[in-house]
Amino acid sequence: MHYKIHAIDVKNALKNYIWLLEDTDTQEVVAIDPTEAGLVTDFCEQHGLQLKQIWLTHWHKDHTGGVEGLLADQNILVYGPRDELTKISFISNPLQNDDHFHFNDLKVEIIATPGHTLGHITYFIEKIETLFSGDTLFAMGCGRLFEGTAEQMYHSLNRLAALPIQTKVYCTHEYTLANAEFALTVEPNNVALQERMQQVKALREADQITLPSTIELELETNPFLRTESAEEFARIRSLKDQF
Ligand SMILES: [Zn+2]
Repeated sequence: MHYKIHAIDVKNALKNYIWLLEDTDTQEVVAIDPTEAGLVTDFCEQHGLQLKQIWLTHWHKDHTGGVEGLLADQNILVYGPRDELTKISFISNPLQNDDHFHFNDLKVEIIATPGHTLGHITYFIEKIETLFSGDTLFAMGCGRLFEGTAEQMYHSLNRLAALPIQTKVYCTHEYTLANAEFALTVEPNNVALQERMQQVKALREADQITLPSTIELELETNPFLRTESAEEFARIRSLKDQF
């Protein structure tokens, strides 16, 4: 079994990436949080790939906007949060915490991470040490609390922090540089963070993607994963909201 993950840069104001998980033996793919249908169909056409599944982390339009267009003329399974069924049409396979399903020979496990939205879910695949974290865990940051409480998000992040440290983290947005700038105001003396800032700066200056991250790297440099209580988390989150 061989798998490969492609990034489609949506080049929108929100800096979304659409992740495509390819089974290189069959050229079948999963699209994760497809912002736009056209970008996915063009990519699949160019690379001879066949879209089989769509995975959604939460209902926000920049994560679900492409679903309807992708379903137009194909037989595709759409996985998404059961708790957001009223907000997302087209989910064929609703999921909740601790559910699992398969994409070819990969077992995909669901970790519910309420906070950014109440129904937000993430997709963990132990076999390829991969997490699709949506808008819960970002590189050196985390999603805004649009629906959930700081307490909920704190627990959600703790669950992700407990994954194997080598797990690669594919989040949805290229917010890494701005997150690093904020993180340095929280931990100006964190050497790992200072070094990462230099790497991220260089990547962005060369117009390169800064993802994926890893759980290990986030444990060393993400101030939101390094808090010791929900109260401390809430304080840093509100500082970031005003940053
Ligand atoms: Zn969102």
